[in-house]
Amino acid sequence: PVKRSQEIQLTRMKLPICDDEQAIMEAISENSVVVICGETGSGKTTQLPQFLYEAGFGNPESDNPGIIGITQPRRVAAMSMSKRVAQELSLDDKRVSYQIRYDATVSSNTVIKFMTDGVLLRELSGDFLLSKYSAIIIDEAHERSLNTDILIGVISRVLRLRKELSEEDKSKIKPLKIIIMSATLRISDFTQNRRLFDIPPPVINVNARQYPVSIHFNKRTPRTDYVTEAFKKICKIHTRLPRGGILVFMTGQNEISILCKKLRNKFPYISSDRTHRNRTVIKEEPPIDEPNEYIHKGYSDRNVDHEIEELAMGENDQDYLDHHDDFDTNSEDSITEFENDVLDNEYAGPLYVLPLYSLLSTRAQMRVFEPPPEGARLCVVATNIAETSLTIPGVTYVVDSGKVKERRYNASSGVQSYVIDWISKASADQRAGRAGRTGPGHCYRLYSSAVFNDQFQQFTVPEIHRTPIEGVILQMKAMNIDTVSNFPFPTPPDRDQLKKAEKLLRYIGALDENNQITSLGRAIATFPLAPRFSKMLIIGQQHECLPYVIAIVSALSVGDPFIKDYHLDGTDSDDGGDEDYLVNNVQTKELNEIQKEIIFKKERRKLMRKKFFDVQKKHSGLDPTSDILKFLNVVGAYEYSGGNEKFCEDNFVRTKAMQEIHKLRGQITKIVQANCQGVDVCVDPKMKPPSAIQLEALRQIIAAGFIDQVAMRKDLVDGMTKTFSSTRGIAYSTMWTNEDVFIHPSSVLYHGKPPDFVVYQELQRTNKVWMKGITIIKPE
Ligand code: ADP
Ligand code: MG
Repeated sequence: PVKRSQEIQLTRMKLPICDDEQAIMEAISENSVVVICGETGSGKTTQLPQFLYEAGFGNPESDNPGIIGITQPRRVAAMSMSKRVAQELSLDDKRVSYQIRYDATVSSNTVIKFMTDGVLLRELSGDFLLSKYSAIIIDEAHERSLNTDILIGVISRVLRLRKELSEEDKSKIKPLKIIIMSATLRISDFTQNRRLFDIPPPVINVNARQYPVSIHFNKRTPRTDYVTEAFKKICKIHTRLPRGGILVFMTGQNEISILCKKLRNKFPYISSDRTHRNRTVIKEEPPIDEPNEYIHKGYSDRNVDHEIEELAMGENDQDYLDHHDDFDTNSEDSITEFENDVLDNEYAGPLYVLPLYSLLSTRAQMRVFEPPPEGARLCVVATNIAETSLTIPGVTYVVDSGKVKERRYNASSGVQSYVIDWISKASADQRAGRAGRTGPGHCYRLYSSAVFNDQFQQFTVPEIHRTPIEGVILQMKAMNIDTVSNFPFPTPPDRDQLKKAEKLLRYIGALDENNQITSLGRAIATFPLAPRFSKMLIIGQQHECLPYVIAIVSALSVGDPFIKDYHLDGTDSDDGGDEDYLVNNVQTKELNEIQKEIIFKKERRKLMRKKFFDVQKKHSGLDPTSDILKFLNVVGAYEYSGGNEKFCEDNFVRTKAMQEIHKLRGQITKIVQANCQGVDVCVDPKMKPPSAIQLEALRQIIAAGFIDQVAMRKDLVDGMTKTFSSTRGIAYSTMWTNEDVFIHPSSVLYHGKPPDFVVYQELQRTNKVWMKGITIIKPE
């Protein structure tokens, strides 16, 4: 018996998928695999688990006693969707739970479990039959994340095994049900792949109630400054067009922060009650911009798309990308210039501006689901997180930059780059579709139709072709899957990529010379970490170094927690409450007051920068020969301080990253206790700094983890030793690429003398190829 509130009942009934409940449940009972396609927002993620639950899945007395598992490519979605479903079913988080790498609410009473695809992949290596589940829902399959692709391949095997075993003895194990869900119809890589499913699974199309969306292309495409272009467009929409929320697609945290600030300044949202004089005036006006070039009706019959995420550590997350804002081209000044020439005389009500990106706290993310304050128009400025995983209610206008930030990876050299590039046509259609959920809508594309036609790819490339794969290859080997020849990849990786992954795994000792997994490899595969980080843990037991190594690999897995100096402006005020956003006096300031403010801001900025560089020095102090030991220092200091937000602010580190590192430390410590006999470790909040001997050992452990990523100063390779006073412009050689590589300006080594040998954590291309996460190897 399910209890739902009246309000929830009514909202549910409006979801398109609820019309198809019977057809879907019949298909599931007759088939072991069912594919469901339905436009974003049709109710797949929130309703499918409830359909199964109501049909008795997860009930110990039923035919399907195992729990219901749902996988998501993004952590944010796993957490927020489990909360939503719990709320709809009036159950608590012990019954409807989630599990992501850093966090879990699962209990022995869990019936519905949301998790990232990486979590389920790891569970498979412990229990290949997935015996505690009765059904697995693989969500967002259209995104083609690496883990989802691999999961579908592995699960097609699990399915067969469960079937065979249950035919032998039904009382022991029951067959498993698989539901693959996609926001698009481009699913033939799964359904028509005979090696995956010998009988093509039935596909159920949810009839989306999609209203027509008019597409407006720009006449010209701004060369770089789409932030300015977006600002102008939003101003026009807000001042001239009728009621309805605005959803803006940008590429990362930095530009989102800038744009939000500008919008809040321009259209202050006034919180107090006496402001109802400011009630939005609704004017009926034709759409702005040039006439419609064409009108789309319904988006459900096109496209797939996809977004890039961090992979190597077994869990995808946009965080990493959000944080990589190096060399951002959008300057703040260019926006200020014309800010005042936009329709200043025109009356507009307040705009309720909310940012949405993955580095934002969960609390701040959830605000987009709440209705905007009376009389204010909602404007959400988001990364492509809002493209298919989260449906924001009440959006009528979409402003699409046409851009996405992507990680590119060269499999043979290991060089990565973070580039802002055009999205695919499929992606553009998805974005436009967000405007047609509650009524007819408009999508303003900040690029011309010519650019769209000529320069946009049809579909986004699956992640497996763009990312290092050694982590999943090792996990597959640990499951005794012969990855190379037989595995039913939806689209197989390149040979080069596979070779590089195997080579790396051989270097760190996880595979033998025949590419068979070693016992070290099996140990490495038990940790939810990139293989080289796990290796550091396993060899990290000398000189009582383990607690330090755990802290180090936790930080390396989460990513550099330090805010970069070029982020000093524009990062405040997004995550916290609305304090500095609730302006009570909107009158134009006197000119001299504005000037005073400019001088004040400049001074403040100077002080801030000084403080910033002092902090960097302080954290490098432990051992100014390693960026990675600087991470260790800040992790130790954070725990020592009790782990509060004030510490993060004072030390220029990201709060969310520090919290994740903290959680990962606890989790890895538990895994070490469980897996390594005779090892006694705990997370000690008052961890002492390492001794000189320990520092030396840590340096060796780091070098062992990055054994293939050694760089040698180029003049030494060439046999002519020079002396230098600075690292600037000094070239290094590595074994993977013939290109020269350089010490990144953010490294603690940048201002010293250039060392002979270093190991680096990653290579990143911008104008040059830079080494990041560098540690000096001291010659004996
Ligand atoms: P799909 O998976 O097909 O894209 P969802 O099941 O995610 O669709 O969403 C169905 C509806 O539930 C959407 O209208 C969405 O806005 C709403 N919804 C999802 N999460 C929440 C939440 N936390 N609060 C309020 N509404 C939500
Ligand atoms: Mg969904």
